[in-house]
Amino acid sequence: MPCGPDLGALTVMDGRNQQLAEALAEQESLLESAAASERLLENVIDSVGVGIVVVDRDGHDVLMNRAQRRIHQLASPPGNDDPNESQLLLWHPGSALPMPPEQRPVRRAVLQETFTNSLVAMGQTQREARVLSASARQVIDHRGERSGAVVVFSDVTSYIDMVRSQEQFVAAVSHELRTPLTSVIGYLELAQDDGDLSRETASYLQVAQRNADQLLLIVQDLLADQVARSGTEQLTLRPARLSEIAQQAAESVALRAEKRGITLERKIVETPELPLDAQRLQQAVGNLLSNALKYTPRGGTVCVHTAVEDHHLELAVTDTGIGISDQEQTNLFTDYYRTETARNSDIPGHGIGLSLTRRIVVAHGGQISVTSRPGEGSTFTIRFGLDEVEWADRA
Ligand code: ADP
Repeated sequence: MPCGPDLGALTVMDGRNQQLAEALAEQESLLESAAASERLLENVIDSVGVGIVVVDRDGHDVLMNRAQRRIHQLASPPGNDDPNESQLLLWHPGSALPMPPEQRPVRRAVLQETFTNSLVAMGQTQREARVLSASARQVIDHRGERSGAVVVFSDVTSYIDMVRSQEQFVAAVSHELRTPLTSVIGYLELAQDDGDLSRETASYLQVAQRNADQLLLIVQDLLADQVARSGTEQLTLRPARLSEIAQQAAESVALRAEKRGITLERKIVETPELPLDAQRLQQAVGNLLSNALKYTPRGGTVCVHTAVEDHHLELAVTDTGIGISDQEQTNLFTDYYRTETARNSDIPGHGIGLSLTRRIVVAHGGQISVTSRPGEGSTFTIRFGLDEVEWADRA
């Protein structure tokens, strides 16, 4: 066996060292470019004007960009620099009601909800709050599993202010139109009472009156809409029962149902008292009932029922009417929206009632939903969480 270094083995080791050094250099350059990409991404995320929050599957913050940190600060309670989401000062936009924890955008995203343009107001007081539009998407990892969620907030305060001033303008104009129109209708009625009118003149006056009545209906609808919009900011909450509201709303449409040949059923169980604005809710339930009567042909059935579940109260209006397709249901609560069937029919309407109803329900911290099948009928359900009562109470 020869003494001295095994030159063959040394050469092999030298080669391996070199390979190792090359691999290390490659890894270092990969790490550097990964760090550079991360810095670039951070800069991009920090420079956009929208707030971005990324949470992991347990709801812990993974990332929050600069815009979102500012939003967070805006909604932090005085003396608390690092509040969690449930402590943030979040409000239902356009109302004086704090938003309950489970309706808050990040919480909903953590609960695996995906949504677009959900409005929320954030700030120390409702009056000085900014209005933000929140959208959430779930994050799926390379194995196809949910690893968290991303929520994006954009400030739409100036857009909302613009819409509000437009609404105030419409309210002022419709108010100004109502008085002269009422007078025109009054004089048209008087003129028609004159027994000496020729048949031709009488028919002219009839047409004029029909059109003036129609115009007055439009103006009244616009006004009711505006009152409800501003009214939701000033809800008068007093202990009231949803069951009594349902009963009264049913009574006020009973005669109309009879005249239209529709059976009106009531399955009303007494519900516990909640802090509610009974007058506004009466208007909301009245809208659902008058829609049910309007969109149900003679011989059909309309039913109003209430139920008390473990954690919520329910009021539902069911009809056996024309129904609404799945696709159209998604737009139903939007201002001025009417389904194609309604537009093509001679059933009068302006597409204001449901959006108004929704606003009243949401201002109370409740929810409204619809299930329907074309040709078979619809059910509109209003739901109030019992766990949220303390929220409404504080308003
Ligand atoms: P309007 O009835 O004055 O048009 P709404 O805002 O109350 O306005 O309703 C919006 C639209 O929703 C209606 O035009 C109609 O197309 C549809 N809709 C509402 N309620 C019902 C119902 N019970 N059955 C079928 N369609 C309905």
